[in-house]
Amino acid sequence: RWSLGVFYDMSEIKKTEKIRIDFVANASHEMRTPLTVIKGYSELMKQKIEQGDLNGPEILDLLNPVLQSADQMSDLMNRLLNLSRVEVNAPLAKSLLPTEQITEEVLQDIEGLVSLKHKNIVVKCEAPEVFANPESCKQILSNLLTNAVKYSGDANDISVTWIKAPQSVLLKVKDNGPGIVKEHQSRVFERFYRVDKGRSRDQGGYGLGLAFVKHHMLNHGGNVRLISENNMGSEFICEFPNP
Ligand code: ADP
Repeated sequence: RWSLGVFYDMSEIKKTEKIRIDFVANASHEMRTPLTVIKGYSELMKQKIEQGDLNGPEILDLLNPVLQSADQMSDLMNRLLNLSRVEVNAPLAKSLLPTEQITEEVLQDIEGLVSLKHKNIVVKCEAPEVFANPESCKQILSNLLTNAVKYSGDANDISVTWIKAPQSVLLKVKDNGPGIVKEHQSRVFERFYRVDKGRSRDQGGYGLGLAFVKHHMLNHGGNVRLISENNMGSEFICEFPNP
């Protein structure tokens, strides 16, 4: 039946609502673990103080996990805040950036992690410039490279390649690690999605990095895609449209 007004696509609305509910559930779930630690240790400390049974080193033993968990919570909140800023799709100030310099700056930032994990990163700047927002571009590369370092297991070689295409510049970040099986490939760009929860958590991840990369790329008017086969490594390709 026809009526005046706006037509709503109910399946779209339900989908958006589910994403919102899942998001709140996931964020609360991630907060719960550090909160439990904070509460548990604080209660123990209170009990011991009341019993007059607490010496200096013991106070430190009980305080350290409290502080660590508080840091963990503030790290998660910062990441969520950053992601929500990127998701509003604000217009970006873009300019032509030297790809070599951008890559060098990101490599300097993650130098510690790279050498800790004994990775060898090969950079090729076939496209000398990219039309992008400098901060956003560095965050994209930093997220992809950090993932390549964290999730490539025993494979040591990682490559960063900037390529000139007819209408765009492509950034390719490739590793030779275990890769991502087909069923997970489209989902890794969702907020809080992790292929191996345990491993990601051990690496300090919340499953927010690739959602962040996706929205940064959409804000550039571009896109990101993944090419991967099980045990054949992962290649993330970002396409930055030319001006
Ligand atoms: P996280 O914070 O967990 O690293 P991301 O959103 O960056 O979250 O990545 C989502 C998941 O995709 C990771 O938990 C990991 O399982 C998988 N992943 C990302 N990059 C790679 C890669 N280069 N190789 C294998 N798996 C990866």
